[in-house]
Amino acid sequence: MPDIMETIEARDPGEKEFHQAVHEVVESVKPVLDSHPEYRYNKILERLVEPERVIMFRVPWMDDRGEPHINRGFRIEMNSAIGPYKGGLRFHPSVTLSILKFLAFEQVFKNALTSLPLGGGKGGSDFDPKGKSDNEVMRFCQSFMAELYRHIGPDTDVPAGDIGVGAREIGYLFGMYKRLRNEFTGVLTGKSLNWGGSLIRPEATGYGCVYFAAEMLQSRGQSLAGRRCLVSGSGNVAQFTVEKIIALGGTVLTLSDSSGYIFDEEGIDEEKLTFVKTLKNVRRGRIEEYADAYPQAVYTPANPDTANPLWQHKAEVAFPCATQNEIDTDDARHLIAGGVQMVVEGANMPTVPEGITLLVESGLLFAPGKAANAGGVAVSGLEMAQNSMRLRWPMAEVEDRLRMIMKNIHASCLDAAAQYGKPGNYVAGANIAGFIKVVDAMLDQGLV
Ligand code: NDP
Repeated sequence: MPDIMETIEARDPGEKEFHQAVHEVVESVKPVLDSHPEYRYNKILERLVEPERVIMFRVPWMDDRGEPHINRGFRIEMNSAIGPYKGGLRFHPSVTLSILKFLAFEQVFKNALTSLPLGGGKGGSDFDPKGKSDNEVMRFCQSFMAELYRHIGPDTDVPAGDIGVGAREIGYLFGMYKRLRNEFTGVLTGKSLNWGGSLIRPEATGYGCVYFAAEMLQSRGQSLAGRRCLVSGSGNVAQFTVEKIIALGGTVLTLSDSSGYIFDEEGIDEEKLTFVKTLKNVRRGRIEEYADAYPQAVYTPANPDTANPLWQHKAEVAFPCATQNEIDTDDARHLIAGGVQMVVEGANMPTVPEGITLLVESGLLFAPGKAANAGGVAVSGLEMAQNSMRLRWPMAEVEDRLRMIMKNIHASCLDAAAQYGKPGNYVAGANIAGFIKVVDAMLDQGLV
């Protein structure tokens, strides 16, 4: 029988990000398969790597000058064993089927870890919102939803935001869904507060990531207070990661976007973070402007031909919060050399596999995105629950639930890793704990 990696490489050639994500899980769950012959007998891996449904569609839209454009839209409905498909939409020119299949695959295990009834999915488009007017973004979102609406629903598939899809895009998408279906339901999460959103949803991924880091440190009798932290990205996840690090007494030295990064030796405080939020969420400017506003900060433009200098600063904790494969092996070596003791992934799969091996073998604590950034989808799950009940929980209640969910994910990872002979390995633990929950549900439901 061919090995599962050979099967998907032959069946889905060129989908390198998807292969990368599958490979990591397959390696982690080998001991589980060895002790559960029923999983192999029932071809559980073969079933897991095949999406339940892939939807690809044309998205035509017109720019402000009247010129038509054609983008490609996707929705990957990966696995619904434990709940409706759930996962974000990404609008970025780098979006391909491979990227979205990797994200959907990761999402399945992440959602299982939250202990909420959420299946896994992901979607998006190669549309680039950067430099587009609000009206152009609105027309694109309306055209995207004019097709997507027939495949989603509050009990079927509930998309949310991701790179390039924030509150503005969710609003336009929701408006079009409501118009087409003539119903007001919780079909999307990440909605604005006054029309069905949950408190703490915008903050949830970043806050959850820092709670996870704090939990890792606490289990070793330490805390984030006084620790120097490197953060990449400057979008939703990065902003709220910084906010919570500051609240817990840590110092954040860096932020980035795709054009470059800033290093602020004095630390990014609350006032500077407010500047970044306005810059990125309202003015939609570049991180370079931070160095104009705060002259002690140094801006360095991105150079794709060299290792990322952001990861070369001396610090104790690194939070990659931008995008996939942003930490390569050179970057990993620099993190180790710079004294970093812990890497906590806010983004999805930001570290290349060889980089993870280097970091883990050097004794660093390493938290994979599917555990550390699960707070976003967890609060999306709480938003769905509130929408179903037609009520809204107070901020403290949502945040307490988020904190408890992150604490439980941390414990599940450590328990699963220890049970299968990899104590302290959060990558193995997250993959194994998520895997067992999903595949047991699949077996219960028969061959579907
Ligand atoms: P945003 O669009 O809000 O921000 C993304 C940030 O990353 C921006 O600063 C962007 O810079 C930068 N970035 C994006 N692509 C690249 C690239 N190719 N090279 C360098 N920088 C890049 O997205 P989010 O903050 O929501 O998402 C960030 C990561 O977190 C993603 O991996 C996402 O999948 C993951 N995630 C997000 C969740 C959420 O709730 N939003 C939940 C769980 C995971 P620029 O503006 O120049 O493009």
